[in-house]
Amino acid sequence: MLGPPGAGKGTQASAMARRWGMAHISSGDLLRDNVREDTGLGRRARPYMERGELVPDQLILDMMAERMAQPDARAGFVLDGFPRTVAQAEALDGLLHRTRQELDGVIYLGVPEEEILRRLSGRLTCPQCHTIYQVDTMPPKVKGTCDKCGSALEQRGDEQPEVVRKRLRVYEEQTAPLLAYYQSKGLLREIDGTIGVERVLEAISRLVQGAREAV
Ligand code: AMP
Repeated sequence: MLGPPGAGKGTQASAMARRWGMAHISSGDLLRDNVREDTGLGRRARPYMERGELVPDQLILDMMAERMAQPDARAGFVLDGFPRTVAQAEALDGLLHRTRQELDGVIYLGVPEEEILRRLSGRLTCPQCHTIYQVDTMPPKVKGTCDKCGSALEQRGDEQPEVVRKRLRVYEEQTAPLLAYYQSKGLLREIDGTIGVERVLEAISRLVQGAREAV
């Protein structure tokens, strides 16, 4: 899944994983778990995350390679938040090649900047099960509480306005070049990320179905 922060990658990746029995692998969730558990990786990644900058590629690549080797990823996986640089995309190609796997497709969710700022300012995340809410458009049933696991919802530390602006600049400079990278490989499919959660999922389903029928 490609797209700026707040485009809906996490929401859609989690729905896709449920629908097709795949693993949802979110680099941001894995990093936040490491920060919370105060692991060596978490301690190294945290300052970058707090500033809205990218964590160095090598830390991410080791973490992702380990996660992608877990048993639940054998039936396939949706990558969310990774790769985020051309160097990461090239490393992912190498990793998939070594494990005799292939990327079936890259879905780009496009959302304009003012909509992103609005969405992120009202985003709440469950620290336990990683479900994402939005106070106006996808509120929890009980205020401040996760519908799925009952944990208290939090606003992410990197969703203060100045950090969000930094993350958007980092996206434009370092991640947007991936669009051309995957376009040139014929893998990129674009979906308008503003048409609503259900309609985006329908559009993704049509793409996934088409890819499966082509196999
Ligand atoms: P996300 O939850 O995807 O918005 O990621 C939150 C933060 O984690 C980012 O702002 C980065 O600091 C870091 N991060 C997540 N994924 C990556 C990645 N693939 N490469 C580098 N840093 C990442």
